[in-house]
Amino acid sequence: MKGSRKLYIKSFGCQMNVYDSQRMADTLAPDGYIETATPADADLVILNTCHIREKAAEKVYSELGRMRRLKEAAAGEGRNVMIAVAGCVAQAEGEEIIRRAPAVDLVVGSQNYHRLPALLARAARTGKVVDTQFPVEDKFDALAPPSPAATRGRGVTAFVTVQEGCDKFCTFCVVPYTRGAEISRPVRKIVAEVERLADAGVREITLIGQNVNAYHGGGEDGRSWPLARLIARVAELPGIERLRYSTSHPLDMTDDLIAAHRDLPRLMPQLHLPVQSGSDRILAAMNRRHTRADYVDVVARLKAARPDLALSSDFIVGFPGETEDDFAATLGLVAEVGYSSAFSFKYSPRPGTPGADMDEQVEEEVKSERLQRLQQEIDRQQAAFNRSCLGRTLSVLFERPGRHGGQLVGRSPYLQPVQVEAPETMLGRIAAVTITEIASNSLFGALAQAPAREPAFAGAGA
Ligand code: SF4
Repeated sequence: MKGSRKLYIKSFGCQMNVYDSQRMADTLAPDGYIETATPADADLVILNTCHIREKAAEKVYSELGRMRRLKEAAAGEGRNVMIAVAGCVAQAEGEEIIRRAPAVDLVVGSQNYHRLPALLARAARTGKVVDTQFPVEDKFDALAPPSPAATRGRGVTAFVTVQEGCDKFCTFCVVPYTRGAEISRPVRKIVAEVERLADAGVREITLIGQNVNAYHGGGEDGRSWPLARLIARVAELPGIERLRYSTSHPLDMTDDLIAAHRDLPRLMPQLHLPVQSGSDRILAAMNRRHTRADYVDVVARLKAARPDLALSSDFIVGFPGETEDDFAATLGLVAEVGYSSAFSFKYSPRPGTPGADMDEQVEEEVKSERLQRLQQEIDRQQAAFNRSCLGRTLSVLFERPGRHGGQLVGRSPYLQPVQVEAPETMLGRIAAVTITEIASNSLFGALAQAPAREPAFAGAGA
């Protein structure tokens, strides 16, 4: 290990970026980089960016302004600070980042961060470096496994990327352009990573991918395995008590994956299944490749397999051409399906996507008014779902100390945060908790006398 240097990574956006940031830290650890939570202490700052939300690039440039000032202050003390921009904005903007923010030393695309040590060395030697070409090699093959020391202390839940990129080309989305074509990691690599995480104390794994249920990685028998088979394999691994996966496309909810919700008690009864709109006209314009009826059918089959399944979703309001009738269809779908939570956003055009060039862009005030109505309905459903948990005994995995002494925070099987008076020795353990109180975004509970068990497959009745 080389002399110690400090690394500050700021992650924007989704859980894929959180995972990538951890792998960046792992990749840089052999070069002596130790993570710090304080940017002013850092020798290397990495902004791991996201391009999904509105004004994503502008937010990165304003953050870069702050980092430039830190770099200048450090230079005044005779200290050299390097700034790198990684992730989807780096992929999309490339050279433009260095042009607009000359304090940046390195721009590295979302498929290239396994090369970070070499790229940083090159930037230190020759000045600015931009690397956003999709590489021939698979970054996951090139990445060193995280050390046990790096893994410990990251908590009892972990994300593991199993799939990346997307071939679906929804007309509003930048992912196929910023993350590239779909790739799936081989099963044995995923199993090895999960085993290491289990050894380090992780109890809950979320298998992640932009289109995770399109997973088709090479299996241990040399064949291509679907996600259901991967989940069953990971569920066998000692120490892993809970499993989740995200984010799924309705079209890829295959029968075997739906059956996994019935057959695997370790697969938690909560699923994020984006639908985006309840109008067939808008779904077609979005190139979602499924209808409202297809989605409702998938939900019905999931609920038949796992009656207490809690669903969350993503919605876009004000997609080009969306009429009041289309929006009413979305509200109708929300009422029909019933969600435990959901994310909803106003459509904002992403340069380079087909949606950005469509006629009939919806006016901002109309989008805002529709968003407000949709969010009201989603909030109402979330509150009703949380209220339905009052008095129930749920299994809770304790993840971290609470804000007050003697309190721990954990998650229910349905992903709700639950605050409980409990000793710190229970961190990392699953216990039965009776829900005694409901707040807007979390539940409060008390340790129950009953033995800690995950909910039975049927009859929990959320
Ligand atoms: S399926 Fe998801 S990741 Fe792929 S293009 Fe559509 S919204 Fe983007």
